[in-house]
Amino acid sequence: MEAPQFKYGDRVWYAESSSYCAVDVPCDICFGKLSVVLILGNGEETDIECEACGKGFQGPTGVRRTHEVRSSVTEGAITGFTKRSFEGGWRFEVDGSSRDHVFATQEEAEAKRSEMHERDTGARARMDEENLSGKKKNHAWSASYHRKHLEEAERKVAWHRAKLSKKGS
Ligand SMILES: [Zn+2]
Repeated sequence: MEAPQFKYGDRVWYAESSSYCAVDVPCDICFGKLSVVLILGNGEETDIECEACGKGFQGPTGVRRTHEVRSSVTEGAITGFTKRSFEGGWRFEVDGSSRDHVFATQEEAEAKRSEMHERDTGARARMDEENLSGKKKNHAWSASYHRKHLEEAERKVAWHRAKLSKKGS
């Protein structure tokens, strides 16, 4: 059985990275204008309310919630270790909390932090990209939905007007 790399009380550095920190940034569909212009296939332009930053009945807000990648390197002391059952090796506890990516030097921890930060930033960017294209599709869909209802309503108006004019006021 391989011995743990660290012993109780060793000074170590651990690297962390997460993208759970919520931040509000300008809406990437309307850029804060609260509405977007959709150009239809026939060149006609339709102004519609931004749904990407809309929150239910509140309507568009001009901002979108995303998650910022935050990473750090922290120094601490080894306070425990447990054998990993599946991955093999050891899992260390630093100042009372179980930590991944524990290193003997700050430089190694920093290298790991930078690698993880880049990975998480890339993953976040891809997720935002997918969200964005989904939102664009939603807008096209909602424009056609509103137009359909509008046409229907206009037909009804025309029909009622016709009835009125027949009676001759
Ligand atoms: Zn918006």
